Amino acid sequence: MAVKKVLKYGEKTLREPSKEVHKVSKKILDLVQDLMDTMYAQNGVGLAAPQIGVNYRVFVIDVSSNNEPLNPQVFINPKIIKKSGAVISQEGCLSFPEAYTDVKRYKNVMVKALDINGRQFVLEAKDGSLLARAIQHENDHLDGILFIDHCTNRFEADEILAKYNLPPIDPDKLIKDDILEKELNQ
Ligand code: ZN
Repeated sequence: MAVKKVLKYGEKTLREPSKEVHKVSKKILDLVQDLMDTMYAQNGVGLAAPQIGVNYRVFVIDVSSNNEPLNPQVFINPKIIKKSGAVISQEGCLSFPEAYTDVKRYKNVMVKALDINGRQFVLEAKDGSLLARAIQHENDHLDGILFIDHCTNRFEADEILAKYNLPPIDPDKLIKDDILEKELNQ
């Protein structure tokens, strides 16, 4: 398949909700391959379909480090079915080249999704691991939510976005997750 252009923050498609996949067809498998090719070409940890301009509920993640064999994981129609704990850590996104900021995330998540054979699986990611954060980050993309919507400091995030010539924070999109706030304050 092919390395696609990654849409940058400011492009409308990134804010649009994605459609469920009804059948893991050839079209979807091609999309998965494009996502992997593009993610690896950009040295990313994850990539969601809307980032290459396709609003389907599909993302790929590979949290293996450089000296480990590739370990791509494909999530089709993912759903986070359990979440707990809270953690603040720095995050970035291929749609925000070079811009990193602190975001709030759940520490542990359990996700249910379909694999490339259309079979359902359940995966648990714990302890604020890269995988746990990547799942939340990529899953958000499918609902038009971006990592900066979870930022801990809106003003600092705005400065970083300006530095890299990206549009400012959209205050209407900032997320007030009361459960997450409570976890953080414990
Ligand atoms: Zn992203």
